[in-house]
Amino acid sequence: MIVSVRNLTHRYGSRVALDDLSFDVAPGTIFGLLGPNGSGKSTLFRILTTMMAPTSGRVTIAGFDAVRRPDEVRRRIGVVFQSPSLDRKLTVRENLTALGRLYGLWGAHLQSRISETLERLGLADRAGELVETLSGGLRRRVEIARALLAGPSILLFDEPSSGLDPAARLELVSVIAGLRDHHGVTVLLATHVLEEAERCDRLLLLHHGRRVAEGTPAELKSRVGGDVVVLEVADPEALRGRILERFGLQAQAVDGALRVEIPNGHRFIAELVEAFPGAIRSIGLHKPTLEDVFLDETGVSID
Ligand code: ADP
Ligand code: MG
Repeated sequence: MIVSVRNLTHRYGSRVALDDLSFDVAPGTIFGLLGPNGSGKSTLFRILTTMMAPTSGRVTIAGFDAVRRPDEVRRRIGVVFQSPSLDRKLTVRENLTALGRLYGLWGAHLQSRISETLERLGLADRAGELVETLSGGLRRRVEIARALLAGPSILLFDEPSSGLDPAARLELVSVIAGLRDHHGVTVLLATHVLEEAERCDRLLLLHHGRRVAEGTPAELKSRVGGDVVVLEVADPEALRGRILERFGLQAQAVDGALRVEIPNGHRFIAELVEAFPGAIRSIGLHKPTLEDVFLDETGVSID
């Protein structure tokens, strides 16, 4: 396992941000950490990137302990942080050159390394452009190029698509998948965006710093029983009681709507409408999503 986390706990004063977390990441895969704001994703990333030591527990990356051998760990990782970190007044190439110097790279060697990396990310024709003139999606790609510059085998992304529009988001996930497929890079990706989580090979669902569930996206979704029926109604509590009485089913009240998991949801919908004429404003039916998995396990939604 290229990344191994064992019994990791982190406290800020009395606030527990990570609570006895353990997981492993296989090389050449995209491993996602899916959880709402405040679930501990950035805290975990600070520890994985050696910026902070955990209260207790252990992290090893490529066999090196993150606390005892931070130098060896740093040599093997590239990081794309939650907030943008490019100098907007420099060109793409100037940004990469500045970082390369920090790594002790220079001259023709550094410049050819930069050209190679820009090529990998489809940015070769943007090298001379000022960062401030680029779209959000392209800027994010420049940040990825920067994280790749020193040739890391593991890339860490903290909420990579925050601030991007849906099209740029989708494109970004494809870029990340390309790094795994063509360059064998291992990716750790923290997110609260479902579309991003869907594209991971394996996911860990995180809530209040604790592991809620882990598996492939398909495995996780198959845990939800059947279809999900969502009802918009005038009085959710009243109808919840009537559904229990009439069908023996426990509906869940979420954000002012009622949610029921049931096989053959389409039949149930017909029965509902007949049973409670006038009580239902609208009905939706969908196959389980990762949001449903999270709701089932925690009782709250990701957003
Ligand atoms: P996420 O990235 O999933 O939003 P964070 O790791 O930022 O989660 O936060 C996890 C918890 O730790 C939250 O309750 C947050 O308020 C708290 N926290 C994060 N950073 C600090 C800090 N520097 N000092 C104190 N509390 C913090
Ligand atoms: Mg965060």
